[in-house]
Amino acid sequence: MNTVSDKTSAIRGLYRLSIEERQKKLQEFADLTEDDMSVLEKFGSLDASTADRMIENVVGTFPFPLGIATNFQINGRDFLVPMALEEPSVVAAASNAARMTRQTGGFSASTTDPVMIGQIQVADIPHLDKAEKSITEQKENLLKVANAQDPVLVKFGGGARDLQVRRLDTIMGPMIVVHIFVDARDAMGANAVNTMCEALAPLLEELTKGKVYLRILSNLAEHRLARATATFPAKELGGSKAVDGILKAYAFAQADPYRCATHNKGIMNGVDAVLLATGQDFRAVEAGAHTYAATREGGYQSLTRYEKTPSGDLQGSIELPLAVGLVGGATRTHPVARLCVKILGVKTANELAEIIASVGLAQNLAALRALSQEGIQTGHMKLHSRNVAIAAGAIGDEVDTIAQKMIAEKRVRFDRAQEILAELRKD
Ligand code: NAD
Repeated sequence: MNTVSDKTSAIRGLYRLSIEERQKKLQEFADLTEDDMSVLEKFGSLDASTADRMIENVVGTFPFPLGIATNFQINGRDFLVPMALEEPSVVAAASNAARMTRQTGGFSASTTDPVMIGQIQVADIPHLDKAEKSITEQKENLLKVANAQDPVLVKFGGGARDLQVRRLDTIMGPMIVVHIFVDARDAMGANAVNTMCEALAPLLEELTKGKVYLRILSNLAEHRLARATATFPAKELGGSKAVDGILKAYAFAQADPYRCATHNKGIMNGVDAVLLATGQDFRAVEAGAHTYAATREGGYQSLTRYEKTPSGDLQGSIELPLAVGLVGGATRTHPVARLCVKILGVKTANELAEIIASVGLAQNLAALRALSQEGIQTGHMKLHSRNVAIAAGAIGDEVDTIAQKMIAEKRVRFDRAQEILAELRKD
């Protein structure tokens, strides 16, 4: 790394330039070659002008592999599930777990009403009791003002439903935090809820004689839950010993946050991949899922549950907050996301959430089964070895030749891939 450089990252008005002009600036700054630039210049299904309208300072797009998980039967209907992610094994594992459930009726999934929480923070309140009473007395009026902000949402059957006054003792003194509960229907709801929170702020200042600071959605969408259950036959899992192994893996996660973080990460492998494919705010769902896992029963817990059925099979279930939408966000602007929603054939945000919950459960079951039996590395390494070969510089047929050799030697490593590549090219 250069320690002394006259290059500056303080580029004024980068956003005002065209994509080509931004690329040129970037090329100069990072000493990019013409080959490097050709990578940036290749736009795929997400064309340059759409991308440029989605975020700031666009210089290119970042493609991900899009795979299709098979075998999903949810509430009696079949789905091919698009998954966008970079990690090998995930799509295959979800498809395999979904296959096992077909003979027991697939997944049963459901959702609560899509209710989001908006928070309005009021501090510097002279009389907390009086303030709380005034807000409670004005509840109906406040809800009316909130709903006046989004007549379209109200027309579709959504809108602000209720309001709650919470008191918080903080390091900066006592505060009142008002929660509004908003049914977001087929929207993720962030913009709708934030607009309502902002509209209520001056009224709350008047009622409390305090000062409003934050007015924003909470990503702990604990009232917008998706649930799925499925039965995995013991004979598909590898017999009763395999069922016990999975139950022990689940017990490990419930008893230990170090394991549980990875257990829930495995669930999110599937969840995030469908979120990304359908243009959802995956950060919002990630934040909500892990906070829900931590607050639902005190300590950090699994988002899934498992038990043995009387016939010795394994019953699994999942419950997590899923703030997803079919209107707004990237779902409508990204052409691939639009296509993925079409592939799923869903008409409501709740239907999408039911599919995502089912994929999360399938993903978790597959991971627990692999981990409690042969371990994941055997299967994972087969796919990973190709990535390692490519990273080492292999092209065309060299990729598979090197991957197979590394697997046979049980040495799937970057340095070994380089050695084999050198040998191949010498020949
Ligand atoms: P949006 O504002 O683009 O669209 C929602 C609006 O569409 C509704 O308010 C309603 O007026 C209208 N609408 C039309 N048909 C509807 C239907 N059938 N059901 C419901 N509404 C309908 O989108 P949004 O969902 O409010 O916001 C989502 C975006 O906000 C995401 O891109 C997210 O990344 C972003 N965001 C997230 C956070 C956060 O998670 N903390 C904060 C700010 C913004």
